Amino acid sequence: MDPIQVQGLNHWFGTGEARKQALFDVSLTVARGSLTILMGPSGSGKTTLLTLMGCLREVQDGSVRLLGTELKGADTATQEAMRRRLGFIFQAHNLHESLTARQNVLMGLQVHGRGDPARQDVAVAHLLTLLGLVDRIDYLPANLSGGQKQRVAIARALVANPDVVFADEPTAALDHDSGYLVVRMLKDLGKARGTTTVMVTHDTRILELADRIVTLEDGRIVSDTGVEKVDRKP
Ligand code: ADP
Ligand code: MG
Repeated sequence: MDPIQVQGLNHWFGTGEARKQALFDVSLTVARGSLTILMGPSGSGKTTLLTLMGCLREVQDGSVRLLGTELKGADTATQEAMRRRLGFIFQAHNLHESLTARQNVLMGLQVHGRGDPARQDVAVAHLLTLLGLVDRIDYLPANLSGGQKQRVAIARALVANPDVVFADEPTAALDHDSGYLVVRMLKDLGKARGTTTVMVTHDTRILELADRIVTLEDGRIVSDTGVEKVDRKP
């Protein structure tokens, strides 16, 4: 079963005179373990689509099946249960400034309830090490570079082993080399864990890392490189 199945999705913002349609009949199926990049001009509906797929916004019309669960009409408990199976990475890294890298990543585990603290510590240190931050584990965000902060945000999003990761312009604040490195690490960790990743980016330099590129314009999908690249991989 494909982890994300979007069918005939429409979305509107505002009411009355101000009502404006942001998505028009969007259909999209995303394969497990793939890295899909959403592109398109500002205002084309990328964030709207990402947040609908990520259960951060109510589905108004059409269908979003996420990990086999229909999100249209889903109750609050179902929505919360779904969000616990997801990881999110945003442009602003949203780290807690008063917590160290380790403590920020631990927050990604604690929303999932209690666990054995010793094992949690090992998992956090392991992931930060994989992300090249072994000597920054006890640093506060203020003492990390932009790229390092975004790698902490990736660790926080991945530490609970989410089935799907949604990233909205995660490299927007980074220079080329650190942006590329961050997405490369996100991709490699995703491949190793079978995580499905959907990422919005304007960054043409990282497109070569995508398994699939979907382009939106004025709320519609106008091009899609398709899933073949993913399926043909041995
Ligand atoms: P993108 O992420 O591609 O820049 P968005 O999904 O944020 O585009 O926005 C798509 C359209 O929906 C735009 O016309 C935007 O102005 C509108 N929009 C987005 N969020 C809201 C909102 N909260 N209220 C009203 N209009 C919105
Ligand atoms: Mg956006």
